Amino acid sequence: MAKRLTIALAGNPNSGKTSVFNSITGARQHVGNWPGVTVEKKVGTVAHRGYDIEVVDLPGTYSLTAYSVEERVVRTYLIEEKPDVVVHVVDSGNLARNLYLTVQLMELGIDLVVDLNMWDEFEDSDAELDIERLHRLLGAPIVTTVGHRGEGVDALLDAVVDLAEDREEHHRHVPVSYGPHVDDVLVELAEAVEHEGEFHGGYPPRWSAIKMLEGDREILEMAKRRGGGLTDLAARASRHISVATGADPEKIIAEGRSGYVEGALKESLTRTVVDRMELSRRIDNVLTNRILGYPIFLALIWILFQLTFQVGAYPQGWLEAFVEWFGGFAGSVLPEGLLISDLIVDGVIGGVGSVIVFLPNIMILFLGIAFLEDSGYMARAAFLMDKLMHALGLHGKSFIPMLMGFGCTVPAIMATRTLESKRDRILTTLLVPLMSCSARLPVYVLIAGAFFAERAGSVVFLVYVLGIVAAMLIGRLFSKTLFKSTPAPFVMELPPYRLPTLKGVLIHMWERAKIYLQKMGGVILVASVILWFLGAFPRNAALVEQYEGDIADLRNVPTEQSQTAADELEAELGARLIEDSYIGRAGKAIYPVVRPLGFTWEMGVGLITGFVAKEVVVSTLGVLHQAEMEVDGAGSLSEALRDPERGLSPLAGFAFMLFVLLYSPCIVAVVAVRREVGAAWMWFSIGYQLALAWLVAFGVYQIGTLFGL
Ligand code: GDP
Ligand code: MG
Repeated sequence: MAKRLTIALAGNPNSGKTSVFNSITGARQHVGNWPGVTVEKKVGTVAHRGYDIEVVDLPGTYSLTAYSVEERVVRTYLIEEKPDVVVHVVDSGNLARNLYLTVQLMELGIDLVVDLNMWDEFEDSDAELDIERLHRLLGAPIVTTVGHRGEGVDALLDAVVDLAEDREEHHRHVPVSYGPHVDDVLVELAEAVEHEGEFHGGYPPRWSAIKMLEGDREILEMAKRRGGGLTDLAARASRHISVATGADPEKIIAEGRSGYVEGALKESLTRTVVDRMELSRRIDNVLTNRILGYPIFLALIWILFQLTFQVGAYPQGWLEAFVEWFGGFAGSVLPEGLLISDLIVDGVIGGVGSVIVFLPNIMILFLGIAFLEDSGYMARAAFLMDKLMHALGLHGKSFIPMLMGFGCTVPAIMATRTLESKRDRILTTLLVPLMSCSARLPVYVLIAGAFFAERAGSVVFLVYVLGIVAAMLIGRLFSKTLFKSTPAPFVMELPPYRLPTLKGVLIHMWERAKIYLQKMGGVILVASVILWFLGAFPRNAALVEQYEGDIADLRNVPTEQSQTAADELEAELGARLIEDSYIGRAGKAIYPVVRPLGFTWEMGVGLITGFVAKEVVVSTLGVLHQAEMEVDGAGSLSEALRDPERGLSPLAGFAFMLFVLLYSPCIVAVVAVRREVGAAWMWFSIGYQLALAWLVAFGVYQIGTLFGL
C-alpha cells in the first residue's frame, strides 16, 4: 500500500496557488467548503515516488492573525490538522511582501517548502537571487515554478517528499529574533505556556506567546480559559516591551519580521529596482544628511575643480606648446606679406589658439558634471541646496544650472529648461551668467598673476565668491521687484543612484564640449580675424616709411647693440601703428568711460572685444601690448601690465577682474538667453550686467583709492 502524505498550499492571494494546485493534481480534485464558513476548499490528489499525496489549496492570506475569515481558516487548519508539509507559494516578483508570510509560517514551526512561483517573470526582471543562500538562511528547501505551465512541479513534489523523509540537509526551524526586549520576555512567557500544558489542539508555546504579545484575541481567550495567571504574565510582558522600546509590542514584532525579511533579502537578492531604491535611501542617509551633506558636497566640488585646473594643466600645456609650434611653422612656410601670413599666424592661429588651450579644462569639468548628473548625485545636491537657493528667490532645482555655470554659461542656460515655471526659468537665466564661467579664468590668471603674485590664488577665489554673492543679492532684488510671485513648489525627483556608464558620461560631456568647439570654430574665429583687421588698419604708410629706413640701417650694422636698437624701433613702430588703428581709436574713444575705474584704454578695448568671448580679452591685451613686450624684452604680458609707467595699480586690476566677472560672458551665451527666454530679457540681461559691472568696478576703485590702496 502506498504511503500517505498531506500537503497544503499557502500564500498571498494571486501568488499562483491555484495554478500550482491545478498543475499538481490535474483532474483529480474536488471542491467543497471549509467547515463553518463559505470559503472554498479545494482538495486533490497525486501519486509521486510511491506516495499518495493529498493536496489542499488554502485561501490566500498575507498574514496569520485572526482578523479575517481566511486567515483564521488557514491558521486553524495548519495548527489543528497539521499537514505533513506546507508549500508556501510565493510571487517571486514581490519577495519582500511574500516572505513576510514565510516568516510567520516559520514561527509556527511547520515543515516548509518555499515555492518561488512566477519564476518566468522574475527571470525576465533585472533581479538576481542567490537561491542556495536563501535556502540556508531560511532553513527551508526552495524550488522555482511557473504555475500555470506546470514547470517545476515535479521538482516541487521531490522537495516535499525529501522533506517528509527527513532527507533535507539544511532543514531546521529558524527562530526569528524581535530584538532584545521582546526576546527576553518571550522566553519567559513561552515557558509559562508550556508549563500550563499545550493549548487546545497543540498550539506551539513560543508561537502562542508571540500571539499573546501581539494581542491576538483568540489566543488570549484560550489563555484565559487555561488560567494559571498566563494573561497577567502576558500583560506584564507587553507593558515591559512598551516601556523599554517606546512602541507597541505588536509593532515591534511586525518590525522584527520585516527586519528578518530585509536581512535575508539583503544577503541573497541583488540588482532589483526595489533593491536599488533601498540602497539609494541608505546612501542618501549619508549624502543628504543635514550635517554631513554640505561638507561632502563641498569636498566633491573642490575635487572637481582640482581635477579641472590641476590635472587639466598638463594637456593645457601640451596644447599651448602645440599652438606655439604650429604658429611658428605656419609663419615659416607661408609667404612673407601682411595679409596672408600675419592674418593667419597672428589673427587666426593666435586668436583661436589662445582659446583652444582651455578645451581640456572644460572637457574635464564637463566630464565631472556629467558623472555627478548621471550617478543621481546632482539631484541630491539640488535637494541639499534648496534652502540656500531660497535666499536667491529660487529653489533647489535652479541649482544645477547655476553649478554648471561655473563651467560654461551656454549649456547652463540650456539646462534651465528643466524648470517648470517661466518665472523660475527667467530668474535663473538672469543669474547664471554671474557664476564665473571657465572662460573668464584666463583673464583672472593674467591679472592676478601680474598684480598679486603669490596671493593670486586667493584673489581669484575671492572673485568667484563675489560672483555668488552678487547672484544672491541680485536674485533677492529681482524676486522682490520683478518677480513678486514665490517660486513654484516642486518635487525634486530622486531617482536611485546608479553607476554611470562610460558611454553615457562621454555622450553627456561631448554634447557640451561640442558647443564650446562650435563657439571656437565660429564666433571666436570670426572675432579673431576682425580683431586683427581692426588692429592692422588703417595702416599709416608714412609712419612705416619713416621708421623702415632707420630700422634697415641699424640691421646692417652687425653689432648686438645695433640689432637691439632695431628691435626697439620695430616695437615702437608697432605700438604707434596700433594706436592709429581702428582699435586704437575705439580705445581712445571709450577711455573716458573706463578711466574712472582706473583702467587703461587698452583694457577698455579688451572689455569691448570681451563681449565676443572672455578669452578674447586676453588675446586683445596681448595684441595691444605686443610692442612693449618686445621693447622691454620682458616677453610676458603680465610684466607689461605691471610696468610702473603704465600707472596701473593692483586695485585697478582687481576692479578689472570684477568687471569681467559681472558683465555678459560671451555672445553665444547672450544668444542662448534669447533662445530660452526671448529678446526682451536678453537685452535686460545685457543691460543690468553692464550697469552692475561698471558700478561695482567704479565703487571698488574709487573707495579703494580713498583708502590709499
Ligand atoms: P492564487 O490567487 O494564488 O490562487 O493565484 P492563481 O493561481 O489564481 O493565479 C493568479 C494569476 O497568476 C493567474 O492569472 C495565473 O495564470 C497567473 N500565474 C500563476 N502562476 C504563474 C507563473 O508562474 N507565471 C506567470 N507569469 N503567471 C502565473
Ligand atoms: Mg486561488
